[in-house]
Amino acid sequence: MNSKHQYVELNDGHFIPRLGFGTYKPQEVPNSKTIEATKIAIEAGFRHIDCAYAYQVEEEVGLAIRSKIADGTVKREDIFYTSKLWSTFHRPELVQSCLEKSLKKLNFDYVDLYLIHSPMELKAMEKCKDAGLAKSIGVSNFNRRQLEMILNKPGLKYKPVCNQVECHVYLNQRKLLDFCKSKDIVLVAYGVLGTQRYKEWVDPSSPVLLDDPVLGALAKKHKRSPALIALRYQLQRGVIVLAKSLNEKRIKENIQVFDFELTAEDMKDLDGLNRNFRYVTFKLMADHPNFPLADEY
Ligand code: NDP
Repeated sequence: MNSKHQYVELNDGHFIPRLGFGTYKPQEVPNSKTIEATKIAIEAGFRHIDCAYAYQVEEEVGLAIRSKIADGTVKREDIFYTSKLWSTFHRPELVQSCLEKSLKKLNFDYVDLYLIHSPMELKAMEKCKDAGLAKSIGVSNFNRRQLEMILNKPGLKYKPVCNQVECHVYLNQRKLLDFCKSKDIVLVAYGVLGTQRYKEWVDPSSPVLLDDPVLGALAKKHKRSPALIALRYQLQRGVIVLAKSLNEKRIKENIQVFDFELTAEDMKDLDGLNRNFRYVTFKLMADHPNFPLADEY
């Protein structure tokens, strides 16, 4: 394990790097961009790569990782790769086939972490771990009630190791974070830089997170960018943080999150920005019985 990277131990004994590289991108951006960006990210020092069946770039991400293995930059075991089960594969008999499709695209024997992309059945996920196809299993976009439902399930074999949710200075998820910590589940944050403002999901009039004056003032104080302040805030709260970029300069900048520290006062100012504001409202799914965002947290 590369000591430059900071890791957190998961409740099943595996380790997750505290900073991850996000790979979701809009359809109109060519997939070749993902190959290039993922290679740059690995060269820059990212070891945790967040992807999903639904992002439709696993082939490209796999290609990039394998090329960095082939040229000796990393070994497979240096990379922590996350994939996610898509909602059309939730029937228990389909779960493993979705993972196998991802593995085939990636040309990998296993993924490090396999997440349920949105709330559903865990039993078939446990089988993927038992089959060695996923080292760890976790969930994404689960609220507290849904996490409790899983944790209280009779015969639960493996607790989810993480819950990947939207989390940033405008939605700091304090209560969900405290709950997850109390259950030894790590919170993995997406949208930390204010999301990609996806056309389908984000209201275009929502505030631009990185333009926030408090982030700006702290950036000035620490001689860093607002993006680094937003990323660092999460690390210091014990959150695993994802950062997506297709831009070489910004990818290299984001890895500098380990090079400085915010003071307790800075952290308090950043806590003060919380307004429980969600960029990704999943409103097209609001009628689903398992819609996760209707509860307070
Ligand atoms: P982020 O919040 O990480 O990033 C938003 C934008 O910030 C990017 O488009 C990027 O643009 C820009 N950016 C990156 N670095 C900097 C910087 N240093 N300074 C200024 N701007 C910067 O976006 P995401 O919403 O993509 O979230 C991250 C990842 O989380 C996703 O890629 C995906 O892997 C995961 N995710 C998971 C979801 C789930 O349901 N589980 C939902 C949404 C995301 P540019 O490329 O031009 O640099």
